[in-house]
Amino acid sequence: MIIIMLGAPGTGKGTVAGILQEKKGFKQISTGDIFRKNIKEQTELGKIADSYISKGNLVPDDITVELVKSVLDNEDIEKGIILDGFPRTINQAEELDKYLKSKDNKVDLVVNLTTPEKEIIERIVNRRVCSNQECKTVYNLVLNPPKVPDICDKCGSKLIQRDDDNEETVKARFENYTKQTSSLIEYYDKKGILFNAVVSKEINKLGADVARDVIEHIDNMKKR
Ligand code: AMP
Repeated sequence: MIIIMLGAPGTGKGTVAGILQEKKGFKQISTGDIFRKNIKEQTELGKIADSYISKGNLVPDDITVELVKSVLDNEDIEKGIILDGFPRTINQAEELDKYLKSKDNKVDLVVNLTTPEKEIIERIVNRRVCSNQECKTVYNLVLNPPKVPDICDKCGSKLIQRDDDNEETVKARFENYTKQTSSLIEYYDKKGILFNAVVSKEINKLGADVARDVIEHIDNMKKR
């Protein structure tokens, strides 16, 4: 099964994907995490990616598509994959479809997350992530704080704030989402594989609640 997580920055894609990985054994592949790892290790890819990410812009399609293909080439797709943050443009989506078709496969489900804008900024500013690449648990200092300040509940590593989680970069990330990514909602809706979910404290639905709904939906899909 191949699942795509879609949604503006800060809607909770990584949180929901992380729970799906934990509960269903699917493999979470986050292009943002792969880029951040490369930036930290100062690889060639990391240097190029950083020049875009630090400004809140998307990394060019050719680089991103090749990266995802090479990652998928080494994964057992049959065990289940969650693409977290990819595709982000129609071109990426088409390239993904072509790649999967060549493997006799296809995207099965697209989870589209939405959150009221005023909550998103608050969420991004308060977001902290576990620095341990194997863990990467996401916290929110208000909604879901760690038990000990700055320390991950799960693995004890230090929590960090993402470099691009600052107000200026977030603005550009939103603009790019509206310009380049939001048209994917229609692209996947036409294919009849879109699952819409609202993540909002106002309706008492956070990432964990939505993950539960997605799991229920997946289990029902399998019964059909
Ligand atoms: P994320 O962790 O998904 O919020 O991604 C962080 C940043 O990495 C984004 O703001 C983009 O600059 C870059 N990025 C991640 N995924 C993609 C993608 N599919 N296409 C282009 N750039 C991406």
